[in-house]
Amino acid sequence: MIKARLLLDAVLDILYPRINCILCDKPLEKGAAHGICNHCTDTLPFIYPPRCTVCSKPTEAENLMCKECRLHGHDYDQALAVFEYSITIRELIHRYKYGGEYSLSRTLGYFMSELLKQSTWQVDMIIPVPLHKNRLKSRGFNQSALLGEYLSRRNGIPCEQEILIRSVDTKTQTGFNRYSRAVNLKNAFTIAKSDEIKLKNRNILLVDDVHTTGATADSCSKVLHRAGANKVYVLTTALVL
Ligand SMILES: [Zn+2]
Ligand SMILES: [Zn+2]
Repeated sequence: MIKARLLLDAVLDILYPRINCILCDKPLEKGAAHGICNHCTDTLPFIYPPRCTVCSKPTEAENLMCKECRLHGHDYDQALAVFEYSITIRELIHRYKYGGEYSLSRTLGYFMSELLKQSTWQVDMIIPVPLHKNRLKSRGFNQSALLGEYLSRRNGIPCEQEILIRSVDTKTQTGFNRYSRAVNLKNAFTIAKSDEIKLKNRNILLVDDVHTTGATADSCSKVLHRAGANKVYVLTTALVL
């Protein structure tokens, strides 16, 4: 099954090869199958160590927790994000989410996969942050699910989209502070009793596009832990600093 998926990915790359860089439109070098040329890759706002041992925000030195994590803590065990949420990254995610450029899941997913490989995490199952069914209907696809499926194919880890359910159609979080986000998301996610067995003692990789205050990841992690999950790791494309 996993082999078939990897093959499918390879076939997609052959059928729809990237020719030009998705950022500067110049011809891509060989091996830049993720769609961004070497020059543009060098300008991307990667988050490098030292970073907070919990949320991955840049810190002054190794093995430190940032102020927010010291003050508030998180329900997830550890989070990593590839990029700082800069204007370039925001535009890229916008093209992916609202511009119908679904193939950007392979570009963003590629960098997430590379970061996952650098981590020490032992992951048993990938769970993308779900959308409420109303939101899924209006947007047409779940951006986190496509990233999760890509990571699944590339790393040979199963991706489960049916276990974690977004049962409340929460208001958009834009403009909300830490407290309002947490209140807005309270009890937004559920897991069916019959699915708890699948999570027991498993290490979960929660996948999302943007990590803002971490309220969404926390809300998901709370129910995953309650259902018996061991570690909950969070991997996002970008982190708002
Ligand atoms: Zn370029
Ligand atoms: Zn932190």
